[in-house]
Amino acid sequence: MIELEGLTKRYGEKVAVNNLSFTVRPGIITGFLGPNGAGKSTTMRMVLGLDRPTSGDVRIDGKHYDQLKDPLTYIGALLEAKAWHGGRSAYNHLLCLAQSNGIPASRVREVLDTVGLTAVARKKTKGFSLGMGQRLGIAGALLGDPRMLMFDEPVNGLDPEGIHWIRNLMKTLAAQGRTVFVSSHLMSEMALTADHLVVIGQGRLLADTSMAEFIAENSRSYVRIRTPQREQLLDALQGAGIKVAEPGAEALEVDGDIAQAVGELAARHQIVLHELSPQRASLEEAFMQLTAESVEYHAHDGQPPGAAPGQQQPGQPPQQPWGSDWKRG
Ligand code: ADP
Ligand code: MG
Repeated sequence: MIELEGLTKRYGEKVAVNNLSFTVRPGIITGFLGPNGAGKSTTMRMVLGLDRPTSGDVRIDGKHYDQLKDPLTYIGALLEAKAWHGGRSAYNHLLCLAQSNGIPASRVREVLDTVGLTAVARKKTKGFSLGMGQRLGIAGALLGDPRMLMFDEPVNGLDPEGIHWIRNLMKTLAAQGRTVFVSSHLMSEMALTADHLVVIGQGRLLADTSMAEFIAENSRSYVRIRTPQREQLLDALQGAGIKVAEPGAEALEVDGDIAQAVGELAARHQIVLHELSPQRASLEEAFMQLTAESVEYHAHDGQPPGAAPGQQQPGQPPQQPWGSDWKRG
């Protein structure tokens, strides 16, 4: 379990991470989603003690990273910037890591096998492709057989086969009961991988929710209708108590999964339909809307309009912007 409490990081004037509180739980994949510059990598570096928080706290099974005995056996990480000692082989790179962390050398072969690098284990890493480099980084993360794993944008720049492989690996690790914390700036990627979702924008927490809940709340179902008998259909829908939106000259939209009801209603009124199509708003749209609001939020000096400065309780997650009215207030 990884627990963040009021975690904050400033670089001079810049607040990279702003009062983040959330918990990453075992047995599931927690997706850490936010646009570039949102503060994901900074947060992950603070988890590993590579960056010191300006205020707040982050604990790994109740301890700070530097209090962990043999930290690689608690938490393994693939961070964004990789510094390969290019002249070394994959095997030697992992062997050094194992030896300096009290991990048996036999483990090196095991992780090389897990990530599929056995055949190139003796090759110098400077000839490695991006995908091979990611695999080697993941081998390092797995070396201590840790209960917690953290991956910072692991699929960036990978080909579809590599992406598929990493996704399945993370699912397997979570199914083994481990804590898996993975960042991405792509909603579509998170939707395919994560069971739980933490969204940040401008360093602030915007959502902390199960993926299923996020999908249910944000992928609105509606029905798009086109008809040459617009006025008759509008009357019929109104008569049936169905609310209609008129987004374009031709198309009508009604909320809900009610294509069948609309079709039958049109038939009863002998109205011709040219289109009757069930639709779902995309999660990508929901994410963009969510984080666009965080930009606006930032523009109001970090306080919602009307809220007095200092009103927010320390350690308390900020109000979730969707579904609330303050942005328009
Ligand atoms: P993400 O990983 O979500 O893309 P980062 O954590 O890398 O975001 O960065 C968050 C913000 O903090 C960005 O605006 C970035 O420019 C800034 N930042 C990150 N590291 C430093 C640093 N060492 N010095 C100054 N600013 C930094
Ligand atoms: Mg990053």
